[in-house]
Amino acid sequence: MSSYERKTTCAYCGVGCGIKAVVSHTDIPSRNEDSTPSFQITVSGDEDHPANYGRLCGKGSALAETAIPEGRLLQPRVNGQVTDWNTAIGTVVERFKAIKDEHGPEAIAFYLSGQLLTEDYYVANKLMKGFIGSSNVDTNSRLCMSSAVSAHKRAFGEDVVPGCYDDLEQADLLILTGSNTAWCHPVLFQRIRAAKASRPELKIVVIDPRRTATCDIADLHLALAPGTDSFLFNGLLSYLHTQGKINQDFLSATEGFDAALASARQSAPDIRQTALACDVDEQLVKQFFDWFADTDKTVTAFSQGINQSSRGSDKGNSIINCHLATGRIGKPGATPFSLTGQPNAMGGREVGGLANQLAAHMDFTPEDIDRVSRFWATDTLATAPGLKAVDLFRAVREKKIKAIWIMATNPVVSLPDANQIKAALSDCDFVVVSDCIAETDTTAFADVLLPSEGWSEKDGTVTNSERRISRQRRLVDSIGKAKPDWWIITQVARGLGFGDAFDYGSARDIFVEHARLSGFENNVQHHRRAFDISLYDALSESEYDDLAPFQWPAPRNNAVNKPETTSDRLFGDQFFYTTSGKAQFVPVLSEGPHNSLNSEYPLALNTGRIRDQWHTMTRTSLARRLNEHKPEPFVEIHPDDAVKYGLEPGSLATVTSAFGSMIARVEVTDTTRQGSLFVPMHWTEQMSSAGRVGALVNPVVDPVSGQPESKFTPARIQPY
Ligand code: SF4
Repeated sequence: MSSYERKTTCAYCGVGCGIKAVVSHTDIPSRNEDSTPSFQITVSGDEDHPANYGRLCGKGSALAETAIPEGRLLQPRVNGQVTDWNTAIGTVVERFKAIKDEHGPEAIAFYLSGQLLTEDYYVANKLMKGFIGSSNVDTNSRLCMSSAVSAHKRAFGEDVVPGCYDDLEQADLLILTGSNTAWCHPVLFQRIRAAKASRPELKIVVIDPRRTATCDIADLHLALAPGTDSFLFNGLLSYLHTQGKINQDFLSATEGFDAALASARQSAPDIRQTALACDVDEQLVKQFFDWFADTDKTVTAFSQGINQSSRGSDKGNSIINCHLATGRIGKPGATPFSLTGQPNAMGGREVGGLANQLAAHMDFTPEDIDRVSRFWATDTLATAPGLKAVDLFRAVREKKIKAIWIMATNPVVSLPDANQIKAALSDCDFVVVSDCIAETDTTAFADVLLPSEGWSEKDGTVTNSERRISRQRRLVDSIGKAKPDWWIITQVARGLGFGDAFDYGSARDIFVEHARLSGFENNVQHHRRAFDISLYDALSESEYDDLAPFQWPAPRNNAVNKPETTSDRLFGDQFFYTTSGKAQFVPVLSEGPHNSLNSEYPLALNTGRIRDQWHTMTRTSLARRLNEHKPEPFVEIHPDDAVKYGLEPGSLATVTSAFGSMIARVEVTDTTRQGSLFVPMHWTEQMSSAGRVGALVNPVVDPVSGQPESKFTPARIQPY
């Protein structure tokens, strides 16, 4: 037996942990669908990776158990029949051509995923926006962090996360809001817990309607009413002003403070009104406000509890407003910080994965359209934003979109009002799905199924929540006929006649082009952007293979870019990427969720993750030990509500909204607020006849970001 070691990156959450993988093989380091793998992979945390310094969580440490042939999509299929790659690609090309000729480019859409590597994402966007000529390319990142993107762009002029993970440890006050960090970003939670253990004076505030595992290390938990976050942060801005805690010097680097303060005062003029709006004890609100007012080194980390809301963008800006007002940004231990959900949601944003962006953080402005057109040498670049995820699938349902290519995601489970997604795909003229898993709720609707490589086979880069780009490396040969996503997309592009623009031989070729675009006319004269990795625009194959993790913006003349001092940091120089160069306060008028509770649906349904599963469980469920934590769909309900609705602990209940229903095991717990339900997002119809919670979630979206309100759907519950 021989073995080799390679460094790679975890395939799951946005922490982006580095992994050391050891591959041992008994004969040849390859496998096919007919044989038992002749190798064994063992994983451990990479001590040198700045995201995790050797730590891994349960999901990451079980990765090797999921790199197995069981359940894999091994061969291309057309109309359910196994075929070869030429036939499958030819079918996609022929149908796309016919639909485009008859109905125009807007009749074709791509729906991508934060599971794709950046190189895959780059060519998918280039093909659709640059050459097919439509912007109807969106991603499941829309469901995850698009509200944070909007908040960043409005405040900073660009989608920039200002901080890094070290800030979470360097802060004296850490606020975790809308984030069950312990379960959703477990290694970050480990780092925070270790920081708290070594420095007990580090105060931690958790803001969440539920008392989650994250509260285990909290000095203060504000169990606010669902959807009232912006009342709290508007109240905080009012309080900071009343207490004379505004950083007047820093205000000169900003614009719009007076208007933001006026809105804040209108929504939450004082502590009493704030406490009433949030349904939290007044003394607890005062304690939080005083800690914030008195602590310079404050980090506010926010995640899906803020983003997945019909007011998610405003909520994000209400947080950022408080940091701008106190000048707590661009300094060690002081920043607002969006915790990204997916392994490569950030990388997708960098290449224009969202329908309203162009690549390299450019927008649909005349200047950027011209710039990207010249760089790609195309005269068919889309010139206006496309449809965001919920609207995109609505257009499929309305048959305005006639062909859709879904890559590495399972929208029949994960999108809101998911029964409508099912109906849309079953009626759609032409559905292509590329995935590494054969049978999912979504692959069931595919006319063409394309086998993609999975973790351990894929090769490329991902970007984590702190803007750190890391290599995800190929460890073993592909299984069956699986291919890299970028290769599949490139073959379709060539078939459509765009071969000259898609002449890539490897993931490195794509990365280098991506790096060149990031630096293309990226200067004060044209349009300075933070996303700049042009330092890496001439990497050789071996340099790409050896690429160490790095953060952007990568200094053009200096490869060492770990921020150590204020002047090294993004925004440390008080320059922002807006037209004026100043940060923008955004006036936020606080409002609750879009749909109100009523006599038919009196309970607020909240959805979220559990500790040991990832998204729709298609991969994590392959590791038996990960299924032991929570083996079946469940609904959390407060003890008083359980009595009220006649529910026994451990019994089965039917949860119903205006959009759908499901069955779940009852967990009675006072960690859930009275009047609320919590159901995990993971289970699928394909795995469980109980149903899926996505079918219940209201398809209400934030008007700015298009992100669905997955944290609040009026619902009812009854014994099954
Ligand atoms: Fe993977 Fe996230 Fe766990 Fe790190 S914290 S090992 S990235 S799932």
